[in-house]
Amino acid sequence: MSIVQRGAEAGFEELVDVRDRLVAGSAEDIIKWVFDTYGDKVAIASSFGAEDVVLIDIAAKVAPGFRVFTLDTGRLPRTTYELMDEIREKYGIRLEVCFPDTEKTRNMAEQYGFNLFRKGIELRRLCCTVRKVQPLKNKLKTLDAWVCGLRRDQSGTRAQVVKTEIDQSNGGIIKVNPLADWSESDVWDYIRKHEVPYNKLHDENYPSIGCEPCTRSVQPGEDIRGGRWWWESPESKECGLHSGN
Ligand code: SF4
Repeated sequence: MSIVQRGAEAGFEELVDVRDRLVAGSAEDIIKWVFDTYGDKVAIASSFGAEDVVLIDIAAKVAPGFRVFTLDTGRLPRTTYELMDEIREKYGIRLEVCFPDTEKTRNMAEQYGFNLFRKGIELRRLCCTVRKVQPLKNKLKTLDAWVCGLRRDQSGTRAQVVKTEIDQSNGGIIKVNPLADWSESDVWDYIRKHEVPYNKLHDENYPSIGCEPCTRSVQPGEDIRGGRWWWESPESKECGLHSGN
């Protein structure tokens, strides 16, 4: 029986066995398995970084009808919105967009200002919580599994990323990271070979792209995520979307 067939019939108890098999599997294996297994209760979480467009391209080939959602924080770069439309048109997908709660966003802006993230790590985390983490958690409550583009060599905070896990911080749903063992050059080799659309900021030394005011270009030799919240220490550079890692 194939991994995919096993996955489709797997109960929770068998998941560990399936997971062990998937660890040795390719990104295609994992994406096919998770969509075959969880159907319309699984979706790719995309911020439209280089890894995310690879996931979408693979899913388009092995998982017809796949779902993709994104978090529109209201502070994204122009190029990210342009890429979203390019991807929608190329793959013919309906992009599911999650927005922050209007009331919480307004209260935050009125109390702390629009650029509160410059006023200390607590307020930066508050902004990420309101604009990203809470909308994500609301979305994940509707899913049984989600697919992410995390890679181990992106940063020290991601060195322990595994390909499949139980996401205890989101109700015990399944989280898969099919590119966990890919290198940055693996990602770019795939994008070039398959002519996948990508965020044009990558051509201006932005290896990791988030909200416009919290992202800058990096210098040669700098950490891939060195341009994210560059005024903070490296160990704090996560927004809380992947707090289980
Ligand atoms: Fe706010 Fe910056 Fe976090 Fe975006 S990345 S949600 S602008 S603190």
